[in-house]
Amino acid sequence: MFQVTVIGGGVMGAATACFLARDHGAAVTVVERDPSYAQASSSLSLSSIRQQFSQPVNMALSRWSIEFLRRAASELATADDRPTLGLVEPGYLYLATEAGAASLREMHLRQRAAGVDVALLNQAELVTRFPWLAVDDLALGSLGLSGEGWFDGPALHRAFRHKARSCGVRFVHAEALDFDSHGCRVTGVRCTDGRCLGGDAFVITAGAWSAPLGRTLGCTLPVTAKKRDVFVLETPAALPGCPLVIDPSGFWFRTEGRLLLAGGPPRGEDTDDLPLHGIDHGLFEDRLWPTLAARVPALEALRVRSAWAGYYEMNAFDHNGLAGRLPGWTNAFTACGFSGHGMQQSPAVGHSMARLVAGLDAPLIAALTPQRVLDGLPLIEANVI
Ligand SMILES: Cc1cc2nc3c(=O)[nH]c(=O)nc-3n(C[C@H](O)[C@H](O)[C@H](O)COP(=O)(O)OP(=O)(O)OC[C@H]3O[C@@H](n4cnc5c(N)ncnc54)[C@H](O)[C@@H]3O)c2cc1C
Repeated sequence: MFQVTVIGGGVMGAATACFLARDHGAAVTVVERDPSYAQASSSLSLSSIRQQFSQPVNMALSRWSIEFLRRAASELATADDRPTLGLVEPGYLYLATEAGAASLREMHLRQRAAGVDVALLNQAELVTRFPWLAVDDLALGSLGLSGEGWFDGPALHRAFRHKARSCGVRFVHAEALDFDSHGCRVTGVRCTDGRCLGGDAFVITAGAWSAPLGRTLGCTLPVTAKKRDVFVLETPAALPGCPLVIDPSGFWFRTEGRLLLAGGPPRGEDTDDLPLHGIDHGLFEDRLWPTLAARVPALEALRVRSAWAGYYEMNAFDHNGLAGRLPGWTNAFTACGFSGHGMQQSPAVGHSMARLVAGLDAPLIAALTPQRVLDGLPLIEANVI
């Protein structure tokens, strides 16, 4: 039987392992250093899904993924479980002032050409649709009409793990250190506890911590951990039909039941590996709250109920995932560096990675090949939130 060792059991590793075992009959071992997934991005994600990207590859991955999420209960059913992911599709709303309007129009043309169900709204149309929004400084909004919203990301992660286990995938609690190899083939992954796990193929899905593992194979994976804060807000205001709104300032908010979630770009330098317990409450007080209250006057009355932080696994090269075979190796692969859009793309990427590792074609992720880093050919994603 074809044996695959996957390093990192977050949503990318779990999805890849699940599809390898479910669809290709592979014998899969997942090596995970923290079975509680406490700091994994997959546990701390906002878990929203959109089609409004600048790159066709991202639009295609998210389209494939939303269709999968809609039928996840049957796709990931096991003898004892039919997962519920709480998918809702109220859309994303990108707002632009006059300064950003041309760029929003250009994105719209690209997205329409790729079949994305998106509409441009002028000021009057914005007010009609979202009467709670302050639009005086706005020129345009771009609203996703279908295929955009949010879901329970940790539940998707659990469902992939559960389905994977039911298809025979073994999860091993260990930390991968480096690899054994022979010629251009990897023969084993060595762990910090002295164990060496073999296999016919190896996949690095270690999220924000993938770079050191790539380095041991001589491959540059320019991925680092960038802390992002999320604030959970209570407000008496009702915002009917509220999509995930991206303000021209870069701040965003969306509803979560009766609560609001909000966040935005960090203040100051975007340093790597900041500790996750250090929530920047000044970001909310000084920047986020004034921005929210100006954009939605009803949010003047607002209370922070709690906050959390997680790491974006940021690919500094071009803010896109790296998915495919590692340059120079016949049987080593990676799926990492999804820069804040990995949760939504995990179904499509996991499915494609499994095909690739099993020796089949995977056109959906061809553009994300890690070879592009070596070639110096970035695939810049302009719409990173
Ligand atoms: C605040 C926040 C908001 C986000 N919002 C969205 C969103 O709205 N939509 C969206 O699509 N995405 C979003 N993301 C991004 C998304 O969560 C990630 O892209 C995705 O979870 C990445 O999954 P992963 O499996 O690659 O990484 P992870 O979930 O981090 O998993 C990597 C795993 O590898 C393990 N590991 C690392 N090194 C080793 C080693 N040497 N040996 C063994 N195991 C190892 C880690 O313990 C970890 O469990 C958000 C992320 C954050 C933090």
